Amino acid sequence: MLRVAVVGSGPSGCYTAQGLVQQDSSVRVDVLDRLPCPYGLVRYGVAPDHEKIKSLQNNLRTILEHERVRFLGGVHVGGSGGPSVGRLRELYHAVVYCVGAAADRRLGIPGEDLPGSWSATEFVSWYSAHPDAVDDGFVHGVRSAVVIGVGNVAVDVARMLARGAAELRRTDMPESALAALAASRVTEIHMVGRRGPSQARFTTKELRELGLLPDTDVVVDPRELALDPAYTDPSALPSAQRRNIEVLRGWAEAPARGGARRIRLRFFLRPVELLAVDGRVGAVRLERTVPDGHGGVTGTGRYEDVAAQLVLRSVGYRGVPLDGLPFDAGTGTVPHRAGRVLRDGAVAPGEYVAGWIKRGPTGVIGTNRPCAKETVASLLADVPVLVRRQVPDDSVPVLRAEGVEPVEWSGWQAIERAEAALGASLGREVVKLPDWESLRAAARGGVA
Ligand code: NAP
Repeated sequence: MLRVAVVGSGPSGCYTAQGLVQQDSSVRVDVLDRLPCPYGLVRYGVAPDHEKIKSLQNNLRTILEHERVRFLGGVHVGGSGGPSVGRLRELYHAVVYCVGAAADRRLGIPGEDLPGSWSATEFVSWYSAHPDAVDDGFVHGVRSAVVIGVGNVAVDVARMLARGAAELRRTDMPESALAALAASRVTEIHMVGRRGPSQARFTTKELRELGLLPDTDVVVDPRELALDPAYTDPSALPSAQRRNIEVLRGWAEAPARGGARRIRLRFFLRPVELLAVDGRVGAVRLERTVPDGHGGVTGTGRYEDVAAQLVLRSVGYRGVPLDGLPFDAGTGTVPHRAGRVLRDGAVAPGEYVAGWIKRGPTGVIGTNRPCAKETVASLLADVPVLVRRQVPDDSVPVLRAEGVEPVEWSGWQAIERAEAALGASLGREVVKLPDWESLRAAARGGVA
């Protein structure tokens, strides 16, 4: 019987497990995760007000509850207390790394580390109750926030800053984040792109949602849009970009509605420095850019300072190296051929990758399906070689003997019950447990 470990229980890990059990009736798959909770970015990245996308958890649950799939949470492969990459390789015929891209990209400008300047990932982790998140309050004393970048994560965080208390209360966000955001006095949210509107990375559905926020105006300056040659004549653009332009044009032409909050979408401005006021971030210095004719921009030497007591840098994710696994620092991915890990340019039989650590942090959740499919096909083609090696029938007793105590599916279900009970005690729906201690206690069936 083929025994496979999948490291990471987000969409790419779950789709890999699904592909394996669907195509090979003898395979058994253990899905390992550093956290005691499954689902990766679906649980800890998808915005809490995106209930429809969040409901994908139900599909992933079906995969993890398959009779030949087993969830093993709280196992930090290559990290503290967990098995090393080499040890895991000994315990399974094959290991598929689906560990995502856990770090944020840096801007590399002065002032980036001032108090009040955060990566969007840190802000998202906070309102998503990630147990490693810093509970800073983020919006306390903030009137004006700048979000740097114009991708879907930027849209998510701008929207969460503009959401009212009543809407947030319906979500599963932790009490402390809810209290902070409900008391927020943020009225100006600037979202800033270094290139033009036709090059923004957000998708139209997500962009449109900004216009549906209660008591919030979306403000776009038509003169700034017009700096983009494709704005005047968008006919040659791919349909997704053309639709974005249409939505932006609509906002640029619409009269202000007089809402209490404003989301200002800005373009052709690149951040050059974060300026301090009283030891914290107080403004962002932006340089006006112009198109260079090749899809990029050049600086003009003209600057604009935008006041901001909170800066969220939303310029993309970055993969992190896993000790013992090859890593390409340039792309932030593990080198591979059709999902087979390459060591010194040669295929390393038995080691595979899928998801963001394979192809970089792009695409929507569904993009992980074909990505996992390719990796599964490579793995199954290698089976005759893989099964030549003897591995333990069951790795859990071995891991336990080595001091690793996995949280099994029943432990995760206990966490789910504790989160439902917490929500009920607060007069809310499910409310997430936000720290390691309460998650571990709940997983043991104790009181959270
Ligand atoms: P992203 O789509 O790659 O967008 C990154 C943004 O940061 C771009 O506007 C980029 O501009 C800008 N940027 C990069 N370096 C910069 C710099 N040094 N200075 C200023 N701006 C800079 O990344 P993301 O928003 O983190 O999203 C990651 C992936 O998750 C995407 O595939 C996204 O669609 C997906 N996602 C989807 C959803 C959803 O479907 N609802 C929600 C969240 C995330 P340039 O283009 O000029 O480089």
